[in-house]
Amino acid sequence: MTCDVCHADTPAPHKAVINNVYYPHVCQNCVAGRVRQPNDAAYQRERGKDENAKEILQPFNRDGTPNADFVAAYPQEAKEIIGEENLKEF
Ligand SMILES: [Zn+2]
Repeated sequence: MTCDVCHADTPAPHKAVINNVYYPHVCQNCVAGRVRQPNDAAYQRERGKDENAKEILQPFNRDGTPNADFVAAYPQEAKEIIGEENLKEF
């Protein structure tokens, strides 16, 4: 599972409201406020250096349909996030 806030892999995500935004999957670090928010420009530049394209794949396209690239890269996560029902077309 990937943290919704910092996008780090987290084995046991939590539900949390951070900056008035509800995140269903948040790692312990973000819950505790130890990770800077991804909308911090400096943080994003920092992440960009060591982040490969696979890590920034989003499960859904802009139109709300499942992202085939995400499904291919993260078959297990795709089942959990998108739902097996919605993956039948892939
Ligand atoms: Zn996090």
